[in-house]
Amino acid sequence: MEESAGLDTYLENHYIHRSNWLRAAVLGANDGILSTASIAVGVAAATELREPIILATLAGLVAGALSMAAGEYVSVSSQTDVEKADIERERQELEEMPELELQRLAEIYVERGLKQETALTVAKEMTAHDALGAHVRDELGINEISQAKPIQAALASGGAFTAGGILPFLVTLFVPLDGMEYILYITATLFLMLLGAIAAKTGGSNIWKAVIRITFWGTIAMGLTALAGYIFGINV
Ligand SMILES: [Zn+2]
Repeated sequence: MEESAGLDTYLENHYIHRSNWLRAAVLGANDGILSTASIAVGVAAATELREPIILATLAGLVAGALSMAAGEYVSVSSQTDVEKADIERERQELEEMPELELQRLAEIYVERGLKQETALTVAKEMTAHDALGAHVRDELGINEISQAKPIQAALASGGAFTAGGILPFLVTLFVPLDGMEYILYITATLFLMLLGAIAAKTGGSNIWKAVIRITFWGTIAMGLTALAGYIFGINV
């Protein structure tokens, strides 16, 4: 019983890192589909010509992808700055008060279940091997996987948005103009439902709830932009 519980936690921890990335990618693609399709539906509801729809959708796709990437880069970079400042402070504390830091590290290992004596031995050996590395990992909780990577995050976020947004854009290129806003709505909703189901499945949450939620908000977003398009419809 005990052994399998340990293994489950171990597997879950590994699974959780993978699913975090997957969930971020799915949510990015969701944004891409929803905002690009909404723009396309709004313009398709306002004009009888294909060019303005294609142009607006493409502009929305590019602007959305770049702003997602820029936003992610800025937010993850500031996280990197915080991490770097923390690591620098830790380095100074290790120089100024090594004894106190050793006690702190041993306390952390006691909290994790080691006996006082074992904890102190482990702390001493870890400190002798790589003091800063041990504190950064076990005290600050910064490790290779969680460390912020701004460029990677920006590319992943912009890429996910583009992967999602390109679907409605392709629809504006190929489907007949007549009733295009309805075809855009139906195809975008199907894409959103599929992604909603994947995100729920990877996150271990209820698939139907996720699908209903994304369909509801997708309908609201595209419905309101279509309404705006009808109200401000122009014959260009
Ligand atoms: Zn420390």
